[in-house]
Amino acid sequence: MLKVRNSEIAKFKRCQRSWYTGYYLEKKPAYGQRTFPAAFDTGNAVHAGLEAYYLGEDMKAALNAHKVEMMASLHPDADHKPWEKVWKMAAAMLDHYPAWVSYNGLDVGESTLAIEEQIEFPVAGVMITCRPDRLVRTRRGIVVEDWKTGVVDRPHMFDADWQMLNYGLAAWMKYGEIPFGARHRRIARSMHTTRAKKEQYAQHYVSFGPDRLEVHRKHLELAVTDLLAVRARLDAGEDPVYTCPPNRLSTCNWDCNVQEICSMMDQGEDWQYVLSTEFDDKEKH
Ligand code: SF4
Repeated sequence: MLKVRNSEIAKFKRCQRSWYTGYYLEKKPAYGQRTFPAAFDTGNAVHAGLEAYYLGEDMKAALNAHKVEMMASLHPDADHKPWEKVWKMAAAMLDHYPAWVSYNGLDVGESTLAIEEQIEFPVAGVMITCRPDRLVRTRRGIVVEDWKTGVVDRPHMFDADWQMLNYGLAAWMKYGEIPFGARHRRIARSMHTTRAKKEQYAQHYVSFGPDRLEVHRKHLELAVTDLLAVRARLDAGEDPVYTCPPNRLSTCNWDCNVQEICSMMDQGEDWQYVLSTEFDDKEKH
């Protein structure tokens, strides 16, 4: 059965052109070619620290291990200073997280069920795979927790967050009970100085009503059907420039790593050359 990642559905809905390179062709920027960090590098470092925290391990040691691994994969000529700033920022972002959790009485009486564990469930003839940041057993039931370091939906948009709803379905399938709800834990991209304008940490909660996940399952079936139809057209040899339209938003700067190719496609330039020289194949799942 074809496996479709939760992130693939989200990317397909966000922008079919970005989905085409990242998921249909399964390409990612060649880290060995990278000379400058992107916003998601900070997010990945923060995730490594939080994963360690909830596994009862040392956050700083986890950040350092992540840093060593990433530094070893850079282009030999890359200037290390901007990369050093990534981990300095990640460490500052996490520095007061345990104190914030403790001060607000969060996590009290809760237990972690799973951290970054892959869960699979069938929908519309494919197997959806997803990896929620953390599943938590609370007094009110299972809660899906997602760690956010980038742009966060405004709280009133949160109950329509597709990835979160997919995590809810996954938890339902895995544990046989409808989860109580979901929450974002937001860790702002800020050095936590006295001049910092943003609130460093925040939590947004949403509860799943009795039918919410059933309705979402139907919506997910429709999205998967659309995705498979576009895949079939590409498999039949259709030109992706026409088949997979771009969806330009202000978030392109931080949530897309194929912006150069996107512009080249629009201008009729040789984007395949850039794809073959500056991108690697993703690991197969
Ligand atoms: S730059 Fe924006 S519109 Fe272009 S492929 Fe990336 S996400 Fe899509």
